[in-house]
Amino acid sequence: MDCKDQVVGEMGKGQLTTKLVTKSYNQALNRSLHQAFKKLIPKSIPQSSPGSIVPLRQDQSTQQLLKPRLSKLISYVSLASLLVNALATPSRAIISSASLGANVSGSEVLNSSKAQSSPSCENQANPSVGDSGENPRGLVNINNNENPRTKSKKTTLLKQAINLKRQVNQQWQYLVMGWASEAGAYLQPAPWPQIHQQARQAKVPVMMYHDVLPEKEVPWDNTPQEIAEHFRLIKAQGLTPISLQQLVTHLHTGLPLPEKPIVLTFDDGYGGHYEYVYKLMQEYNYPAAFSVYTDGVGKDAIPNKDRRPGGPRTHVSWEQLQEMAANPLVEIVSHSVTHPLDMREQTDAQITKELVEAKQILESKLGVSIDYFTYPVGKNDDRVRRLVKEAGYVAAFAMHEDPAEEQLAGESENLLAIGRWGQSRFLEALENTWGGEALVNIAGQSGMEEFDFTAPIKMQKVAIDKTNLVLISGGRPVTIHARSRYQVPEILANTGAVAGVDGGFFSLEFLDSNQMIGPVLSQSTQKFVPGKEADVLRIKNRPLVLISPEAVKFIPFDVNKHNEQAGVEAEMDGVTDAFVAAAWLVRDGAAQSAQTFGNLFDFDAERHRAFWGINKNGQPVIGVSVDPVDSVNLGKILAKAGYHDAVMLDSGASTSLAYKGDSLVGYVPRPVPHVVALMPSETEVAANCSPSLGSK
Ligand SMILES: [Zn+2]
Repeated sequence: MDCKDQVVGEMGKGQLTTKLVTKSYNQALNRSLHQAFKKLIPKSIPQSSPGSIVPLRQDQSTQQLLKPRLSKLISYVSLASLLVNALATPSRAIISSASLGANVSGSEVLNSSKAQSSPSCENQANPSVGDSGENPRGLVNINNNENPRTKSKKTTLLKQAINLKRQVNQQWQYLVMGWASEAGAYLQPAPWPQIHQQARQAKVPVMMYHDVLPEKEVPWDNTPQEIAEHFRLIKAQGLTPISLQQLVTHLHTGLPLPEKPIVLTFDDGYGGHYEYVYKLMQEYNYPAAFSVYTDGVGKDAIPNKDRRPGGPRTHVSWEQLQEMAANPLVEIVSHSVTHPLDMREQTDAQITKELVEAKQILESKLGVSIDYFTYPVGKNDDRVRRLVKEAGYVAAFAMHEDPAEEQLAGESENLLAIGRWGQSRFLEALENTWGGEALVNIAGQSGMEEFDFTAPIKMQKVAIDKTNLVLISGGRPVTIHARSRYQVPEILANTGAVAGVDGGFFSLEFLDSNQMIGPVLSQSTQKFVPGKEADVLRIKNRPLVLISPEAVKFIPFDVNKHNEQAGVEAEMDGVTDAFVAAAWLVRDGAAQSAQTFGNLFDFDAERHRAFWGINKNGQPVIGVSVDPVDSVNLGKILAKAGYHDAVMLDSGASTSLAYKGDSLVGYVPRPVPHVVALMPSETEVAANCSPSLGSK
């Protein structure tokens, strides 16, 4: 690591002084654009190659939107591009010119500052960034000058356009995971079809069911009452049914799952699946997968009319299957055309026909991508698996007739032979489930009494639930309240901070104001600035962020106590920084529900979002969503990532994150006056910069 990246400012324990450095706006713009595109945009649209890339299904809303149109998808691509351009360009242009204006004036102010920066490890005695003094009445008016109807229409169109494009690029996410190498082995996907080492530690039972009918005929039948009881127990015992896509992603990348995951699979496309299981899934909002052999659809299963008073076993009809496939909770899995009893005894040509035709029929009839295969009666060997791969499947499910040979998903040989448990082991499965260790800094499990502000600062690029994030963890958190508005890398320059994310909400009334919404106390200014009366009444109970050299606290903002310095100091010994964040995303390890966001502007819209918090090891983690995401889903994602507490800082056009001097977002963000930054520990600074310090 170069010492250029580790500029050390005056870093007294409780005090941070900072100096902003002049930087040509164009240079910064070009650089951040260049960096962003270089880092975030795949070089080309990845080709479908089951050997290296696992396609992902779309999120639920996208899927609902797109399934009926899938076959026409390609013709939508150009339309989508047009829409994206037409809708995104004007707002981006506005943002850019706003940034430009603010920066020009900012540069003038900065130019008058005497010292020019020269990146080195020298200590620099820097003047504090003072409060601008001009604090006109701040009004909350977040990114919205259009009338709500036009805006909502535009947003919907834009979302649809983006979603259409995404559907085409559905394999993009795995490509992104390819550049997660900086995160170390933990996030590096295993070479397909291997199972990631991290996933081997988790315990995920994939339950296998067959028919559901009122009168059981064979031991592996279940009655509707039994299935209902299983669903009830899953909920009562706090398990989380996950989709096959979540499972496969987990097995491929090591990404942790919810604490107690379980997978529900139903084989052979029985009528009882539609009649009973599908209803229960919707009632509980649980995902499940159905393995269907195409010859059986719409026909009676075993011709046993004479023997069975209740009539023959039935199969689902194509109509029922289409309805199920259109539901985002349902995943349809290919189970061959004819359900041969042992594929190992078939010729290559026969096997390939079963594999390819079943995939084609299901895809054309149901309008969904069929990515997984279930071996009839579980029979497979190396040759069958190779043909499964060649037919374009990315994972395959097995079964064992002997329960002693059954495997949890992580015990499977590879993604082409994922083990399942028979339904008779359901109670055992309830007791044997674990989603694996949390993502963000997995070393140690200290709990929240202890904070750790000494960990090395690390950047991770990850995709969780199909949303790409950049997370930077470690170091000691500080806030910087700048004199005016700047790009985050400009604010961080010469402060010694390694990384920073744009901080609390600020007044949008004036482009060059540093007025925040609510009170702000910062080490950079050592000044407590109370919030404007009109604002503080509107931010009741939002998270008040308190930082000291040893700890961080997030408490509900109380206007009667917290709009003056004494009230803030009473909440935390040695508090050095305070500000009000937008909302809790994760609280005590739990993702927050929609209700908790109250009337927060656009909380349910998909936007770029900036956040920060403390992970389960007591370390600070700042981050942004690379993809637009709504607040509720972001909370779920961050809980999975291992946050103990996380608050949303900002969203939309000013969302920005910087690391070692570079912007990490794929656009030029609106300039901001406030930053949550990570300072390296003294050990880390010494390790990186000792040669230069020594020569001084
Ligand atoms: Zn079967």
